[in-house]
Amino acid sequence: MARIGFIGLGNMGGGMAANLAKAGHDVRAFDLSAEALARAKAAGCLVVADAVEAAAGAQAVVTMLPAGAHVAQIYDDALFDTVDTGAVLIDCSTIDVDTARKVAEAARTKGLHAVDAPVSGGIAAANAGALTFMVGGSDTAFAKAEPFLSDMGKAVIHAGTSGAGQAAKMCNNMLLGASMIATCEAFALAEKLGLDPQTFYDISSVSSGQCWSMTSYCPVAGVGPETPADRGFQGGFAAALMLKDLRLAMQAAAGAGADTPMGARAAELYARFVEDGNAATDFSGIIQTLRQGAA
Ligand code: NAD
Repeated sequence: MARIGFIGLGNMGGGMAANLAKAGHDVRAFDLSAEALARAKAAGCLVVADAVEAAAGAQAVVTMLPAGAHVAQIYDDALFDTVDTGAVLIDCSTIDVDTARKVAEAARTKGLHAVDAPVSGGIAAANAGALTFMVGGSDTAFAKAEPFLSDMGKAVIHAGTSGAGQAAKMCNNMLLGASMIATCEAFALAEKLGLDPQTFYDISSVSSGQCWSMTSYCPVAGVGPETPADRGFQGGFAAALMLKDLRLAMQAAAGAGADTPMGARAAELYARFVEDGNAATDFSGIIQTLRQGAA
């Protein structure tokens, strides 16, 4: 079993650190929030005073932070100079590709291994150890990170070199945002045309319109498997996080000169949905706006 520094014990990181402790690792946990630290302590982690102390003597350092600025701030010289050579730095936060690459490059110049390893799956998957990790980094860095990621997830996929994990995450979520809106539009139109939503589901779920947003995460209550729609759009994947990911995708598209009109429109629609007071609403709740014809 290994010593692991874990920084960022929020909604996602709390469950992930708990799963590493459950797997028998010696987890040194740090967060700015006293409440998050108390939860980590109750889950079997050793609470430490700062990020550098969490990283000292660790074979792996895992970060699960809100955004790129937080990640860049944590992976500073003091931390790099503290980490043992041979340790692997694993950033699981969803951040921009450029920052992910800069952090990995800075680690490399210090002789350290680093991967970007954002996740698919929400808080329930983080708690259950059922996340999917998409990983960017060298073969050596991936091999070092993989056993720790396996203790927190059900799938660990090597996407390519540094930044490839973030690229996979934002392309996937851009597709998800656009496909959810298209699915919501189709149900809202079907309803207006007098077509029963269950009947539309029965037809479209076995026809060419079938997609994950329809058959695994149906935005209509009582149709398909149980989803946030059956719980008044509470829980699930918050619209604010979908908007964050769409904005990261738009930033990446602008930098790469990629034409992403559907992603851009999805970002606009989720921005309006969030501004209308729906930041914490599950992202499939955008069907309510589309039903009103306000979009
Ligand atoms: P969160 O806000 O609940 O947790 C972030 C934690 O980081 C907080 O506890 C905060 O106190 C801590 N933190 C911030 N700055 C810090 C610092 N300098 N030092 C130590 N701790 C610091 O966020 P979350 O929902 O856990 O999400 C974390 C990341 O995972 C984000 O990048 C998010 O986009 C991504 N993500 C979230 C979900 C989800 O469903 N919540 C799903 C997939 C990916």
